[in-house]
Amino acid sequence: MAAPRESVVHGSKAAPKDLPSIDKLLRRPAVAALVDEQGHTLVAGEARALLDGLRLRALAQALSLDELTPDALDAQLEQRVSYRLQGRMRAVLNLTGTVIHTNLGRALLADAALQQLLALMSGPNNLEYDLESGGRGDRDSLVEGLLCDLTGAEAATVVNNNAAAVLLAIAALGGGREVIVSRGELVEIGGAFRMPDVMASAGATLVEVGTTNRTHARDYAGAITPQTAMLMKVHTSNYQVQGFTAAVSEAELAPIAHAAGLPLVTDLGSGALVDLSQWGLPREPMPQEMLAAGCDVVTFSGDKLLGGPQAGLIVGKREYIARIRKFPMKRALRMSKLPLAALEATLRLYLRPERLTQDLPTLRLLTRPLAEIEAQAEALAPLLAAALAPHYTVRVSAMLGQIGSGSLPIERLPSAGLAIAPVAAKGQGRALERLSAALRALPLPVIGRIAEDQLWLDLRCLDDAAQFSLQLPLLQEALA
Ligand SMILES: *Cc1c(COP(=O)(O)O)cnc(C)c1O
Repeated sequence: MAAPRESVVHGSKAAPKDLPSIDKLLRRPAVAALVDEQGHTLVAGEARALLDGLRLRALAQALSLDELTPDALDAQLEQRVSYRLQGRMRAVLNLTGTVIHTNLGRALLADAALQQLLALMSGPNNLEYDLESGGRGDRDSLVEGLLCDLTGAEAATVVNNNAAAVLLAIAALGGGREVIVSRGELVEIGGAFRMPDVMASAGATLVEVGTTNRTHARDYAGAITPQTAMLMKVHTSNYQVQGFTAAVSEAELAPIAHAAGLPLVTDLGSGALVDLSQWGLPREPMPQEMLAAGCDVVTFSGDKLLGGPQAGLIVGKREYIARIRKFPMKRALRMSKLPLAALEATLRLYLRPERLTQDLPTLRLLTRPLAEIEAQAEALAPLLAAALAPHYTVRVSAMLGQIGSGSLPIERLPSAGLAIAPVAAKGQGRALERLSAALRALPLPVIGRIAEDQLWLDLRCLDDAAQFSLQLPLLQEALA
């Protein structure tokens, strides 16, 4: 919006009578051309909104006649129309240092998944059609075989996300009865996903055992009653209790559950399908290990370490998966064909584990050689410094990133990037906010993080340095 005070200085004030009528505005040649291109509905709607806004400002004596010249009106209308058509969901550069960032869309889809979407989504497909028998099929069957092969499970089903998977598993197996969970595992994942609330939503009664820091096998065994429906383990993915602690492993807990004829269900959260330690990354528990340890049902996310679309994967024993699949809530939580197609393509990549660090973008970023990130930082530092001079200094710095999305919050990823500091000692906070706003306003917004009076750009996730460097002239202009 133009600053009202300026209008007093630069031109005489406009009154409502100075505004053109909507018809007159729409008949202007530039506007008529815009209508030809974008249609009457959109352009007329924006023209009306523009005139309404100008009228209010005229009434408030805060509109200058300069803003009502035909050229100025054309330009304002064109700007409004193009803003209206701009997507609200935008690509950004994630330079936060958190690779799987929930606020920035989590895992990046693999090429194979994108190709699958392009190939399948503009036409009909066999989502629920059995091509062999010619009869009705089950959408789960498109990925069930792969999930069983990859995890060693007897059966598998998929839903919208892992929160849905947990909710559904509890409702189907524990609804109306008691579910035993350790006090040390009553996690809050973020937003409204807190284990006690999920339990209540699923219609199960939570039975807490043990203490915050220590829970023993006898705590679980002693809490089992005829009302017990299942035992549950929750991977404490976003925090760690340290010091005097004790937890009961799945391998220890499974025989206790099975002796009472009960299932053991584990919410694994991230759940990596391959051992990350082979690339020097922190080890994350794997669903196949949990099943081998005796868990009857394991749930995990599709868009965390798996590197696929948003999805909730449920793997385990045939009888329990069958009960989960038949439970009415499943229909409300089912996956749509889009993520399902992407999930199938992503899971297929795991058939060639040797190629995973090339094929899965998220894993590629997680395993990017530090030397490569450092070299990128060295190359970009002088360019950024030139764009930000003389108000900010730029230096190459070692950084500690993280995997993100609740996986392994304690373990950090050694990385490198650019640390930017304002030159003036006064107003540092404002200067950093200004810079970070300018970075966010770029055509490809750059998201960094402010800490310790500096703005940090971790370059681990900067796949293509040109995406950053080509925007530097615009950044310089914005800060001038
Ligand atoms: C992330 C997470 C969830 C939620 O999974 P979404 O796929 O985000 O729905 C549930 N439990 C644990 C332990 C998690 O880490």
